[in-house]
Amino acid sequence: MSTPRTAAFHTLGCKLNFSETSTLARSLEEAGYARVKVEERPDVFVLNTCSVTENADKECRQWVRRFQRINPEAFIAVVGCYAQLKPEEIAAIPGVNIVLGANEKFDLAAHIHRRLSSAEAGLHERSEALFAPIKDARTFIPSFNTGDRTRTFLKVQDGCDYFCSFCTIPLARGRSRSGTIAETLAIARDIAHSGVKEIVLTGVNTGDFGRLNGEDFLGLIEALDQVEGIERFRISSIEPNLCSDAVIGFVAASERFMPHFHMPLQSGSDTILERMRRRYDTTLYAERVARTGPSSPMQCIGADVITSAPGETDEEFQKTHAFLRSQAIDYLHAFTYSERANTTAVRMDDSVPIETRRERTKQMRILSSKLQRAHYERHLGTMRNVLLESEDVDGRMLGYTDNYLRVSLPFDAALMNTIQPVQLMRLHGDGHVDGAVEESLAVETADCRLPTAN
Ligand code: SF4
Repeated sequence: MSTPRTAAFHTLGCKLNFSETSTLARSLEEAGYARVKVEERPDVFVLNTCSVTENADKECRQWVRRFQRINPEAFIAVVGCYAQLKPEEIAAIPGVNIVLGANEKFDLAAHIHRRLSSAEAGLHERSEALFAPIKDARTFIPSFNTGDRTRTFLKVQDGCDYFCSFCTIPLARGRSRSGTIAETLAIARDIAHSGVKEIVLTGVNTGDFGRLNGEDFLGLIEALDQVEGIERFRISSIEPNLCSDAVIGFVAASERFMPHFHMPLQSGSDTILERMRRRYDTTLYAERVARTGPSSPMQCIGADVITSAPGETDEEFQKTHAFLRSQAIDYLHAFTYSERANTTAVRMDDSVPIETRRERTKQMRILSSKLQRAHYERHLGTMRNVLLESEDVDGRMLGYTDNYLRVSLPFDAALMNTIQPVQLMRLHGDGHVDGAVEESLAVETADCRLPTAN
């Protein structure tokens, strides 16, 4: 193979991974590689893996096989969380040339260069000896995705010190760490110059920002609120115990932080929360939800829930179901517990039969649909500000309201990447609401924060 010139990327997993893939792509571009699509027969494939998905191993193998079918001569790098946890397994997959974990992946260009220029390293040899631990677990490498004109996911924090009993993320991503407020502001300003209108703050445990630097998450959001050019900020997710009164109060008063909180619940049973080693109970969670409520009645609250953790009886599952129904929660991300190597939970007895797990997750997804539908219905007939973001699809364009309703409008190129007051008219079957721009109120780009009906 001649000197590699093109690289293609595929990402598995969360928004954090997507933002990191963008950073990897930019670093390879700086090293002289043009970014192309997977189907365009690149010289280098990069697979950014996830350890949370149940089928991480299967998915990884499938993608490597697919890459090989597209270009049998290509160099294949497998990076990210799953690569950190199971380097030997991945290195044994035929066709994989290099495996890089949590922090090592950010030296991707140098690793590829070394590997390709090494006289004795043939392209199709197995990977060289693989790292086991994260080399420098306290180094924070910021990331943000590019290529989306309207919204960017900005990684402000990485890793986690909580060690919940079911979770592999602290093993895959290392200890909690972040940049400083000043460093994060500098990146946000660069993003603002690129014309992006909304920044979503992401991290593994976002609310833990700044702890090692004597700073905190509240200080970060207060500072970001002053960045010129960004019209919207959204907090992707925050642990309930870190969603303080001060954070809630600041978001409620801010013109630019959207009234949308996503707080992982995981279980509505205090017994299970304790077994999960979560740092709150249902009383604290309910109190956090109640605090966010009165300040902004038309906000949006989302929650993660894990069904069927070890020891979850039918009664405890029902408790979770009832708890969720009793809260002002608007949608759920429901996951099924699955055993993960090297976690505390994997050693617990009382595991829930697979069939029961499936059934419980199904019930949670049905509940989520109902909650979401009710959230949408409450807003019909009202007007909300929508950031119009998608291209022309069958004559329509999509966008999100401040409080996270997905809205579809007739396509109008002039409205792309602007925030407009939109009348929310009727619910659409596939999870969005049809809207129309309120012409008399339409403005160039400003988020005019219309008073909400309700
Ligand atoms: S808070 Fe718990 S579930 Fe979330 S990343 Fe940390 S250990 Fe995992």
